Formats: sequence, structure tokens, C-alpha cells
Amino acid sequence: MLWIVLGVLSWSFFEYFVHRVGYHKRTNSRKLQWFLDAFHLHHHKNLKDYRVLNAGFLLMYPLTIIILVVIYLLTNSIVLTVGFGLGKTFYYLFYEYVHYQIHKKIHKKGYLNLFQKYHLYHHYKNWNVNFGNTITIWDKVFNTYDDRYKKLILTKNQIEDLILKK
Ligand SMILES: [Zn+2]
Ligand SMILES: [Zn+2]
Repeated sequence: MLWIVLGVLSWSFFEYFVHRVGYHKRTNSRKLQWFLDAFHLHHHKNLKDYRVLNAGFLLMYPLTIIILVVIYLLTNSIVLTVGFGLGKTFYYLFYEYVHYQIHKKIHKKGYLNLFQKYHLYHHYKNWNVNFGNTITIWDKVFNTYDDRYKKLILTKNQIEDLILKK
């Protein structure tokens, strides 16, 4: 059970870390930069392109497998490794669901409303804060938390960007 929780926490950190250090990183290598920008900055600029809304399955599966192998080598226990993997996968799917909902329509209350503002503040106001998509804790820990998202008011165009086009 503890390991399922650890798996959940690990993804929530991973989500923060990949978004902040991976997707928003500036590098001197043009090829690497192109690769990094290819989907995340594309997502930033093209909110209506729902093909790039997920975190990148091609990136996530290999990374997850590597992490699970490391955990197995460290713990030598299939039970712990599977528990961790389940927690991580569960939270990953939850993240994808939340991010999709955030960009799909306006949420008026509750958790999705909170994180809609939180994430859209990151999109529209400041790319250097509020990297978490489902949890604020890592932004607070690493000092990238900006609570002005609470007062975010969307323009008409920005609201139109949120309506899913079929
Ligand atoms: Zn987004
Ligand atoms: Zn971003």
C-alpha cells in the first residue's frame, strides 16, 4: 500500500519535473531544443491541437519501464515494484484526464476549476510558474508557486480556445 502511494507521489513529482526542467528547458543544442519544443511549446501555442495534449506516450512508457526496473533492482520485490507501478500509472491517467478536461471546457467549480485557472495562468500569464497540473505541492516546495492564478480572468478569445472542436 505504501508503495502505491509512493508511486502516486513519484508521478506527481515527475509531472512537475518533466514540465519544468524538460519541456521548458533552453539548451544550446538545436536538435535537442527542437525535440523538446516539438510538443510542449507547440501545445502552449496551439491549444486547439488536441493531438499533443497528452504528455507523450512514447516518452512516458520507456521512462516508466526504466524506473520500474531500477525499483526492482533496489527492492528485489515484485510486489513492491508492481504496487509502485500501479500507483504511478493510476496517477498518470488521472493527470491526463485532468489536463484534457482543463483544455476542453470551462469548469465553474471544484477541483477542475481550481486547476484550470492554475494551469491557464501558466499558459497565458507566466510560463515560469505553476508547473503542476494536478497538485500544487511541488510548485510550493520549489518556489514556483504564484497564487495570482486565483484572480485569472479569461478573455473572450481564450474562452473560445477552450471549447473542443470536433
Ligand atoms: Zn496545457
Ligand atoms: Zn508549460
